[in-house]
Amino acid sequence: MAKIISGKEVSAAVKARVREECEQLKAQGVVPGLAVIIVGDDPASRVYVNNKKKACAEVGFHSEEFALPAETTEEELLSLVRELNERKDIHGILCQLPLPKHLDEKKVIHTIAPEKDVDAFHPSNVGQIMIGEYRFLPCTPAGVMEMIKSEGIEVSGKNCVVIGRSNIVGKPMAMLLLHENGTVTICHSRTKNLKEICSQADILVAAVGKPKFVTADMVKEGAVVLDVGINRDENGKLCGDVDFASVEKKAGYITPVPGGVGPMTIAMLMQNTLTAAKLLTGC
Ligand code: NDP
Repeated sequence: MAKIISGKEVSAAVKARVREECEQLKAQGVVPGLAVIIVGDDPASRVYVNNKKKACAEVGFHSEEFALPAETTEEELLSLVRELNERKDIHGILCQLPLPKHLDEKKVIHTIAPEKDVDAFHPSNVGQIMIGEYRFLPCTPAGVMEMIKSEGIEVSGKNCVVIGRSNIVGKPMAMLLLHENGTVTICHSRTKNLKEICSQADILVAAVGKPKFVTADMVKEGAVVLDVGINRDENGKLCGDVDFASVEKKAGYITPVPGGVGPMTIAMLMQNTLTAAKLLTGC
């Protein structure tokens, strides 16, 4: 039976560390500030934004929400971002994705000042991740790495397989594993022999967006299985990309959904906001 790596526990430890450092910053007159922009009324986005605000309160940050109507124009949104770029009391800016169709996500990401881009989506931050000289790590992959480290699992020399090549999860995930000297394979929808490749992985990260996609026959005995997916199963229940019930019996470590990578993403966002506050204020 696999050992469960609890995102609730590991994220609580990260947030405790951030809270402590936040206290030290406050003693120097700096209150880390995060601005969260949400456009429209997507229910999932609303839940994510509420969780981010709650986390800010937990660690002692100042947070501001900008809830804009779905019909907001691109210029209105961009001018809000520019205004936030200039504000001294705001150190991190994030715009909850996806945006309504008429708004260009790329333009918005490119407008956020790189030094306040706590999601690490700006091309300048993405480039820094490539060369391993980053100010911020993308929150979800960084959360996965933190879970691996929390168990003292060695990445160096291991076969690592990432299923998914999105810009926000799969690609940066592969890069972080590579920085830790893993031998990394990235799989996607055109990959042939997916099952064979996955079943050779010592560390398997699933970021596909398909409920219970990774089954026990794709997993090596004793592997570390990290499930990024957030999906609904046939009964509308929250589930990951991994078929937890069968894979749990074969893996060495496994992350659950819910209570796995999700809370880690938010904890790493707090970490990035703290880093931004320190860098911007020189504290
Ligand atoms: P995307 O849809 O952007 O990417 C999915 C990836 O999976 C693509 O690269 C796609 O390949 C690949 N894929 C799809 N079908 C297959 C298949 N049959 N075989 C192999 N690969 C396949 O999703 P994201 O990366 O944004 O998110 C992935 C999941 O993670 C989602 O469930 C999302 O909700 C969740 N998520 C969770 C977060 C958290 O905090 N826990 C944060 C962000 C996302 P191709 O490129 O060829 O199309």
